[in-house]
Amino acid sequence: SNRVMLGPLVAAIDQGTSSTRFLVFNAKTAELLSHHQVEIKQSFPKEGWVEEDPKEILQSVYECMERTCEKMTQLNIDISNIKAIGVTNQRETTLVWDNETGEPLYSAIVWLDLRTQSTVERLINKTPGRNKNHLKHKTGLPISTYFSAVKLRWLMDNVTEVQEAVRSHRAMFGTVDSWLIWCLTGGKSGGVHCTDVTNASRTMLFNIHTMDWDPELCKYFDIPMEILPKVRSSSEIYGLMKICSSLKSGALTGVPISGCLGDQSAALVGQMCFQDGQAKNTYGTGCFLLRNTGSKPVMSDHGLLTTVAYKLGRDTPACYALEGSVAIAGAVVRWLKDNLGIVQCSTEIEKLAAAVGTSYGCYFVPAFSGLYAPYWEPSARGIICGLTQFTNRSHLSFAALEAVCFQTREILDAMNQDSGIPLTQLQVDGGMTSNRLLMQLQADILCIPVVKPSMPETTALGAAMAAGAAEGVSVWSLKPEDLSAVTSEKFEPQINPEESEFRYARWKKAVQKAMDWET
Ligand code: ADP
Repeated sequence: SNRVMLGPLVAAIDQGTSSTRFLVFNAKTAELLSHHQVEIKQSFPKEGWVEEDPKEILQSVYECMERTCEKMTQLNIDISNIKAIGVTNQRETTLVWDNETGEPLYSAIVWLDLRTQSTVERLINKTPGRNKNHLKHKTGLPISTYFSAVKLRWLMDNVTEVQEAVRSHRAMFGTVDSWLIWCLTGGKSGGVHCTDVTNASRTMLFNIHTMDWDPELCKYFDIPMEILPKVRSSSEIYGLMKICSSLKSGALTGVPISGCLGDQSAALVGQMCFQDGQAKNTYGTGCFLLRNTGSKPVMSDHGLLTTVAYKLGRDTPACYALEGSVAIAGAVVRWLKDNLGIVQCSTEIEKLAAAVGTSYGCYFVPAFSGLYAPYWEPSARGIICGLTQFTNRSHLSFAALEAVCFQTREILDAMNQDSGIPLTQLQVDGGMTSNRLLMQLQADILCIPVVKPSMPETTALGAAMAAGAAEGVSVWSLKPEDLSAVTSEKFEPQINPEESEFRYARWKKAVQKAMDWET
C-alpha cells in the first residue's frame, strides 16, 4: 500500500472537564496529524455538586483512540509509528476504585464540586487564627473545596462501599491520570497505580519541597497512605498499553505510556514556557494562568497557588509555577447554553456578543463555585448587575465574555505584584481562544498584547512532548529552537487604558457584591 512516510509519532490522551481527546503528533515537527474528540457528560445531582462517570471517561478514551486510529488508516499513516503515549487530565477530580473488581466505587467528584464547603469551613475554624493558609508552607495551597484531599475525605465519610474497600485494603485513590493509566496498563490484572508530581501537587497530601506524599498531611486529613498512587516524574515509562486487540487501536498494545502532566502543566510545556518568568493562560471550563518560577517554589502574597510545573525525567530537577486559578470561564458559556438556552452552541456566543459590542453597563460575576484566585471565598455566589429595560441576551453574552477577561486581569495583576516583573504580553490557549472577540476583549482589558499559537492543542502537545522525550523512548527534543516553525497570532489592545480602567473598577464593585452575598 501507499504508506505515508513519516518519522516517529507520539500520541496524547487529553482528558478534560468537558471533553476527551486523543491526538497524534509528528515528533520531528510537532505537527498534529490526526485526532478525535468526545464530549463528557457532567451531572449536577444536588446544588453545588458536580460529578462525572469514571467508566464513561474511560470509554471516551477508548472511543477517541479507535476513531483516531481509523482516521490514520484512512490517511495511510502507519499506526505502528506511534512510539509513546502521554496522558494529560483535568486536575483534582477525585476517584476511588476497587483493585480486585476494577470497578469505581463512586462517581468522579469534579474539581468544581462544592459539597465539601462545610468540611472546609470546619477545618479552617480549627486552625490557629482561622487561617486558610495553614498548610500552605507544605502544599502551596489554601484549604479549599478545590483540592482532592477534602473530596477523598468526603468519600471516606459518606460512601459505604469506599469505607468497606478501605477496610479490606482494596481501595485505590487517584486523580483522572491515575485511573486512566491503571486501566490502560491492565487494570485489575496488573495495572500500574501511579500519578505524576504535577497531579500529586493538587491533592493537598503532597509536600512540594520533599516531592512526596507527606505523612503529616495524610494524618491531618486522616487518609491511609496505602490507598495513594506512587508518585513519579512527568516523563518516564510508567507501563505499557494493554488493550483489546480486536480494535483498530489494538495496534497500540505494547506502546509505552511515558508522559503524565496535569492539564495546566501540560499547556505550560506545550507553549514551551521553560524559562523562569514565562507564562501562559489557558481558557477552558475554568481559566488558569501559570508562570514558571524555575527551580524555586515561590510563595504568593496575593492569593496565587504555588504548584509543581513539571519534572521532565526521574533525575531531572522539578520546576515550579505560580498559578492563578479561575473556576468559571468557558463554564459560563456552557451555562448560558444549557441553563438559559440563550445560545445553541458555545461558538454562537461570539456572534451574539459582537452584534452589540458592549455589555451596556451590565456586569456578570459567575461565582458559581465560590470565587477562586485571588479571593478563595467559597461562599461567594454569582451575580448579574447593572440591568436596565434595554439589556438583552446580546449584552448578557458580552458581559459573560468580559467576565472571563476581568477575572484574568485580576490574576495577572496578582502575578505581576508577586513577581515584581510585569508580563509584557500574554500567551494563551484552550477551547475558548477560538473566540476572536474574546481575545480582542482580553487584550483591551489587560492593555497588553495577547498571543495565540496557531496550533491550539497545546495541552495535548505538552503531554506528547513529555512522553516522547522520556528515557527509553527519546524520539522528541524538548528544545524550543527545534520547533521554530510554530506560528502564532497577536491581538493588540485597541481601546484606551482609561476606558479599560473604568470598566475594571466597575467589575471590582460587582465582585464585592458577589462576595458579600452570604454574609
Ligand atoms: P476543558 O479542557 O476544560 O474541557 P476546553 O479547552 O475543551 O475545556 O474548552 C471548552 C470550553 O470552552 C467549554 O466550556 C465551552 O463552553 C467553551 N468554548 C468553546 N468554544 C467557545 C467559543 N467559541 N466561545 C466561547 N466559549 C467557547
